[in-house]
Amino acid sequence: MNRRDLFRSIAGLAAATAFPGEAAAQDSNPNVASMPLTAYQPKSALRVKETKIERARFPLIDFHTHITWSDGVAGRERITLTAQPDEILPVMDRRNIRLMLNLTGGYGKGLQESLRVLYASNRDRFLVFTEPWWSKVPEPGYPKFQADQIVSAHQAGARGVKVLKTLGLYLRENGETGSLVKIDDPRFDSMWEAAGALNMPVAIHVSDPLAFFTPVDGFNERYEELHAHPDWSFYGSGWPGDRELQEARRRVMRRHPRTQFVCLHVAVAEDLAYVSQCLDAHPNMLVDIAARIGELGRQPRAAAKFFDRYQDRILFGTDATPKGYEFPQQLFGDELYEIYFRFLETEDEYFDYAPAPVPERSPTSGPAPVEENVCAVGASNRTRATA
Ligand SMILES: [Zn+2]
Repeated sequence: MNRRDLFRSIAGLAAATAFPGEAAAQDSNPNVASMPLTAYQPKSALRVKETKIERARFPLIDFHTHITWSDGVAGRERITLTAQPDEILPVMDRRNIRLMLNLTGGYGKGLQESLRVLYASNRDRFLVFTEPWWSKVPEPGYPKFQADQIVSAHQAGARGVKVLKTLGLYLRENGETGSLVKIDDPRFDSMWEAAGALNMPVAIHVSDPLAFFTPVDGFNERYEELHAHPDWSFYGSGWPGDRELQEARRRVMRRHPRTQFVCLHVAVAEDLAYVSQCLDAHPNMLVDIAARIGELGRQPRAAAKFFDRYQDRILFGTDATPKGYEFPQQLFGDELYEIYFRFLETEDEYFDYAPAPVPERSPTSGPAPVEENVCAVGASNRTRATA
């Protein structure tokens, strides 16, 4: 028998026995549960070190939080407060968070409300970003209107501009109908310029995890998450791909070199080689690590090199959302920060990266112990959290 025949006969043997064997094991051993995939919640058997870090080694700025939400494309100038400052401050004090940036501060009257609530008694602990007034995009004169809004938001106390993935994936020419408005649509040029002129960083999220752009089938690494939230999938005709969205954002960064862009969620955390290319090409680009330690921790060696090489361009951020039960890896609280500190400051391996159960549940490993990896953006200039 030659090698090929040998392999063929082994394969044939496996095919003949695998499935009947499995069924037999279940039938003959009542201890082997038969269950739907949704019931499968494996617990790691590894006995690995667990280091508890209660306080960040350095006072931190959490660049990416959602203490308020605005109403997206509806144009109602409303915000929803997810927690009162008094509920948040004790956690910040315990965990050594000096400053929290509330990115989704809204626009118009909603922004005024965000500023009022968060600056009232704690002007030095919170910063608020403003958001574009999406519902007005189709109106004539929008570019100037939006640029003026950025100026007045700055005068009122907003210190940056936040762009949700609304741009590129939800915002359409006629609100909810018509074609998707492109990220590099020239109608936003004066907004990007106005932000740059005022030293307001633009925190911009485009795209989403790569698995949201691939078929929701047995090969999808976020199958369970997408099964629970089918509307999170952007797979299929009519949706742009991840790379198309990333490249549109790159054209914006190239066109507005004096504006600082913070590409949220590591831009595309699954592809650090591409992110490195982008960082090398665009000096006005930074990234944050919010809600992506699950991706970074699954490539710990590449992530460690990435952190080492780009340590002054990576911001600490968590995507913390008070009472954000729908987003388990963002649930604001002591535990969320402990997980990030464990990831950034210890050599612990293979631990859960979310304070609540996550459907997409590959545990993570920290990239490496760090002294200076944790950086943060201040109001208008970059400040090392280690300083
Ligand atoms: Zn966020």
